[in-house]
Amino acid sequence: MLFKAHVDIAKYSGMAIPSIAHTFVELNRVEEIPEVLQKLGGHEEKIHILGEGTNTIWGSSIITRPIIKINIPGFEVIEEKPDAMFVEIGAGENWDKVVEKVVNLGLAGIEALSAIPGTAGATPVQNVGAYGADISQTLHSLRAYDIEEKKMVTISANECNFTYRGSMFKGTAKKRFIITSILLSLSKKPPQIPDYKDTKAFFEREKKANPTLQEIRGAIIEIRKLKLPDPSVIPNCGSFFKNPIVPKMQADELKEKFPSMPHYPDPNGVKISAGWMIEKAGLKGKSFGRIATYPNNALVLTSLHKDAQIDDLLSARDKIVTKVKELFDVNLEMEPEIIS
Ligand SMILES: Cc1cc2nc3c(=O)[nH]c(=O)nc-3n(C[C@H](O)[C@H](O)[C@H](O)COP(=O)(O)OP(=O)(O)OC[C@H]3O[C@@H](n4cnc5c(N)ncnc54)[C@H](O)[C@@H]3O)c2cc1C
Repeated sequence: MLFKAHVDIAKYSGMAIPSIAHTFVELNRVEEIPEVLQKLGGHEEKIHILGEGTNTIWGSSIITRPIIKINIPGFEVIEEKPDAMFVEIGAGENWDKVVEKVVNLGLAGIEALSAIPGTAGATPVQNVGAYGADISQTLHSLRAYDIEEKKMVTISANECNFTYRGSMFKGTAKKRFIITSILLSLSKKPPQIPDYKDTKAFFEREKKANPTLQEIRGAIIEIRKLKLPDPSVIPNCGSFFKNPIVPKMQADELKEKFPSMPHYPDPNGVKISAGWMIEKAGLKGKSFGRIATYPNNALVLTSLHKDAQIDDLLSARDKIVTKVKELFDVNLEMEPEIIS
């Protein structure tokens, strides 16, 4: 473990809002957790667990709560069956490198989640998903340190209470667990084209009905490049707002008013496109001082200046939320987390 004081943490946030951490600990091994927590002297509820910070926004110029950055490595085949393989991955591993390795091993299940920034350990937190897939579909279980009970536990995928961009780690069990590894159940069967319009159109154009895993990963990377700027070049946190899920009645009214509005069935109602609403409100590619929506994707907020502050971001967010509410009577909810 490595304790540091007064660390510049702008680079540990997709949005790169400037901030300094009073106490920053790099955690490299599971065994170090009890000692790290003891050294931090109780106040576990204040600790912030950090992966790569791609879904994290620093909410003030100084963060006084201790930050524990998870670096725990690991990639191990735990069990092999005739048509499946169980692979355990350390929470600190870079997620896209994991996807690349898994695809190169000829295993299907996470290829649609290619090129999503961040760590493996963060994927269950918001049930990371893209192109019709999410981590709940391949996660078998995970290992975590239970801060309340002060012991290591195994949590099954079922117990994670996964929802769209959510899990118990963002809800009832927020701040209780430090995820140390994830166990994925991967398939040896031939992959399917991800059930999503962009990927289907891609392979129709390519005239390929049965693409390989590598081809699917390549397609996803290519599609994403157009819509999502690289946070190390243009600071951003990916989708800034969740796609709202509205009651069927409200969705029907909206469809009548806006026949071209994209909508998708959801167990809790109808999912509508936040990006489409922002674009329809005339806010795609719009600059709000030092913050702007991305010209290729209205759902992404980018920082235009290295000195952009949290207030610039919040003001841009509020303007977008207000305009969408006025036009569609729908409340937009932020996806990244603000940490103060
Ligand atoms: C360009 C871009 C594209 C993106 N595309 C997508 C996408 O397609 N789909 C999608 O779902 N997300 C997407 N994201 C969001 C982001 O990549 C994911 O949320 C990712 O899982 C965050 O990983 P991280 O390690 O950076 O997490 P962080 O931002 O560090 O943390 C996110 C949350 O997880 C918690 N956490 C992190 N690690 C642990 C751990 N080991 N134990 C317990 N809690 C932990 C943190 O406390 C925090 O609450 C995108 C982001 C960017 C910048």
